[in-house]
Amino acid sequence: MPLSDILDRIRAEEERTGRAPGSARLVAVSKVQPLERVIAVLEEGHRLFGENKVQEAAAKWPELKERFPGVELHLIGPLQTNKVRQAMELFDAIETLDRPKLARSIARLKDELGHCPRLFVQVNTGEEEQKAGIMPADADAFIAECRGLGLEIEGLMCIPPADEEPSLHFALLRKIAGRNGIAELSMGMSGDFEKAVAQGATYLRVGSAIFGERVYS
Ligand SMILES: *Cc1c(COP(=O)(O)O)cnc(C)c1O
Repeated sequence: MPLSDILDRIRAEEERTGRAPGSARLVAVSKVQPLERVIAVLEEGHRLFGENKVQEAAAKWPELKERFPGVELHLIGPLQTNKVRQAMELFDAIETLDRPKLARSIARLKDELGHCPRLFVQVNTGEEEQKAGIMPADADAFIAECRGLGLEIEGLMCIPPADEEPSLHFALLRKIAGRNGIAELSMGMSGDFEKAVAQGATYLRVGSAIFGERVYS
């Protein structure tokens, strides 16, 4: 689907639900996509992108950032502690802060590098074994722990279970954010981004609906 169609659908849902136009921002998820498709979306003027692997992002984005000024890059996949430095140098936001060890590592490097990407805590709203993210019951304490380390937590992120109504998970994420004074909500993907807008998402992570199905070789 053309990028403009996705943007139109987001605007329409913002309007329908009484939200300010542009208050739900589109993160175009470019992981695994052929470079020419990513460049086509950049040439349409889009500048906000998401990648889920540090290595993959490092291979393409430094050059694209030079060629297309104003690019903003979000890490939306799990972050290993040994890649934190590289991630902090490459990404404008890390949406997957999900454990104390990672928070300590980011806090240490923040002092050393003198800068820090914007930080989102990933919450495992479905309490799924195989999924990353802090458990909902542990979220408040973890957010407090991050703040205690001097980290500013700007947002929360979730990936709902595939077989459950996403709106319930979006609502839970919004509730946790509200009681912790957190403004940004990263939720909603290709299949449910309109529902996420209705639940207050400020970032929508949409991949295949923009770029087409991912082909893993
Ligand atoms: C791949 C991915 C997306 C995009 O998924 P689509 O269904 O292609 O829109 C969103 N969020 C995360 C965390 C992802 O890994």
